[in-house]
Amino acid sequence: MKVVKFGGSSLADGPHFEKIIKIITTDPERKIIVTSAPGKRDKTDCKITDLLIDYAHKTITNQSLTAIQQQIWQRYEEIGSYFSVSTEKMAVLKQILLNLPKKEYLNNNYLLAEFKAHGEILNAHILTLILQQLNLNAHFAGSGELGIEVTANPQDAMIVPETYDNLAKYHLPSGYLVVPGFYGLTKKGQIATFSRGGSDITGAVLARGFHARVYENFTDVDAIYSANPAIVRHPKAISKMTYREMRELSYAGFSVFHDEAILPAIAGNVPINVKNTNHPNLKGTMIVPAKDFHALNVITGVATATHFSALYLHRYLLNKEVGFTLKLLQIFYKYHISYEHMPSGIDDLTVIFDDRQFTAGVREKMCQEIRTQLKPDSLEWIDDYAIIMVVGEGMRNKVGVMAKIIEPLAAQNIGVHMINQGASRISIMLGTKRKDAPAAVRQIYNNFFTQGAKIND
Ligand code: ASP
Repeated sequence: MKVVKFGGSSLADGPHFEKIIKIITTDPERKIIVTSAPGKRDKTDCKITDLLIDYAHKTITNQSLTAIQQQIWQRYEEIGSYFSVSTEKMAVLKQILLNLPKKEYLNNNYLLAEFKAHGEILNAHILTLILQQLNLNAHFAGSGELGIEVTANPQDAMIVPETYDNLAKYHLPSGYLVVPGFYGLTKKGQIATFSRGGSDITGAVLARGFHARVYENFTDVDAIYSANPAIVRHPKAISKMTYREMRELSYAGFSVFHDEAILPAIAGNVPINVKNTNHPNLKGTMIVPAKDFHALNVITGVATATHFSALYLHRYLLNKEVGFTLKLLQIFYKYHISYEHMPSGIDDLTVIFDDRQFTAGVREKMCQEIRTQLKPDSLEWIDDYAIIMVVGEGMRNKVGVMAKIIEPLAAQNIGVHMINQGASRISIMLGTKRKDAPAAVRQIYNNFFTQGAKIND
């Protein structure tokens, strides 16, 4: 059995629904279908999730709702009428959308979550209606019915382990099970969504919970590429990669697949197949356990992300001082700040953060507290920080990889202010200035892929 998840662009309008129905019905293994909300039909279009966020804000601030309700509904109505779904059935769904502002919510964060989740809920309902109309046996199942339980973080929920006990007890009906992605229910029964792009997580959780043979993730690209096509022209497609390669690359900006969605697949040992809805016969990219992988290239991919900043602390004899890092971490804990990496030297320490977590003033307060409690000789905040990840199972046990990464950067005068190799030895992380990051990616890519850099075994 396969769990099949369709992204927003694959469900953007009637013609796309037609394609995905063909995909579902041509393979009898495709039984559990996870939907996203309708995405963009073209570059200038709006995603339904973004419109629902607008709808939620207008509700919170008591603005007129008619125009935004109309704009959202029109998208669903178009899909329904493409398949001539009856007006009575569509009217029930419209009412769900119109009732959202009238419901009671724990607070505005939960209101926002519930509005957002309805992008996928309504889409899953419409798909179920269309499949039934085509005389196919289809059943809608939301998170409540399946027991998808999540933590009480309304916009950034995490799956709780009980979910898997609940899925184990769930009796799969015959026919298709259509499940809206992107959300779960908290212990108190409130809707909470995963972070953006989180329908991938729902698909992975179901694939693990129902022991799928494969988790197929349909999107709008033929494969995952070894570099971002916006940075490198015609990068090579990756036919096979490991879970951990994918995790490291999606962490650094490979946005094809949500980085948290890999964890349930790893735990359940379910291979992930990223495929294109528009070219379903192409093989796409397989993401598999390391034991099923033989590296053909030294590196599998190179990625960059620029949403980082770094704190640089200098203090003589830092290496001899017991408890310095502990006190620093306690300050981060107090401000509820997580750090990404912490490379250190004998007298200095750099802490790299995801910049998106700082709200106004928090950074200054935190730095002030570090100054008073830890008395560093110097403290500097580096805003201009990009991370470059060079990832490949093929790098393990190879000599000279680092030189092949650094040489072309030096030749282009690109400064590297941090190098970090993970213990797994399948990734090397570099820190550069933001403006240098795309050129650095191109240089590294070219050196490994187009110039066939030779590495000794
Ligand atoms: N619709 C949600 C979003 O736009 C979730 C998803 O598409 O996976 O983020």
